[in-house]
Amino acid sequence: MPRYTGHSAYHWYISQRSKLDLQLPPLPAPDTRGYTPLFLGERFCRAPDCAKETPATSTNNLRKHYSQKHPNLILNAVEGRPTTEEEGAALRFYVSLRDTYDTRVLAKQRAAAINKPKIPRKKDGSIHLTDIRKKVKDLHGQVPCEPCKDTNDRTGCCREENISRCDNFDYFDSDNQSELSDPPEEEAEEQEGEEEEEA
Ligand SMILES: [Zn+2]
Ligand SMILES: [Zn+2]
Repeated sequence: MPRYTGHSAYHWYISQRSKLDLQLPPLPAPDTRGYTPLFLGERFCRAPDCAKETPATSTNNLRKHYSQKHPNLILNAVEGRPTTEEEGAALRFYVSLRDTYDTRVLAKQRAAAINKPKIPRKKDGSIHLTDIRKKVKDLHGQVPCEPCKDTNDRTGCCREENISRCDNFDYFDSDNQSELSDPPEEEAEEQEGEEEEEA
C-alpha cells in the first residue's frame, strides 16, 4: 500500500487553495468515544458553515483551528505511527475527492467549450486584466498558466501580447475582437476606396 503522502491525489489536495471548489464531505459523526475522526494529512476545515476557505499549512495547524474555532468538536487524538487502515482510508478519501472534482470540472469545461465567453475588454478594446484573470479562475484555470510560468513571465499571463503563448485564451471565444467600441482600424482601411461613399 503506497503511503498517501506520496500519492498524486494527495499532492493535488494540498495544492488546492480554496475548499469552495472541493465539495468536501461533512465531518463524520463522532465515534463511540465521542471523538470526531480526521483523515491523515487533512488541511481544510470541514466543520459545518466554517468560513475558513483556505487550507491550514499543516494538519497540526488544522487541529489547532478546530480547537480554537470549533471547541465543541473533539478530534481523534494522534497516536504514534498511522496504521495501514488509516493510510488506506486517507488515500481513498483523497482519490475520491480528486475523482469527483475531475468529473465536475470536466463537465464544466465541456459546457464552457461549447459556449466560450468573450474576452473581457475595457471600453478602449484592451483586455480587462482583472476580469479576464477572475474569469479564468472561475473556469478552474490558473494564473499564471503553465506556459507563462515556464517562460518565467508570470505577470504577462492573460495579456494580449502573449495570446499565442498563454493557455488561458483557450477559455475564451477566439474570434472576438471588440463588441464594446468601434475598432479604430476601420477608418484607416476604408480610406482607400471611395466607391462606397454615395454622397
Ligand atoms: Zn473551521
Ligand atoms: Zn498565461
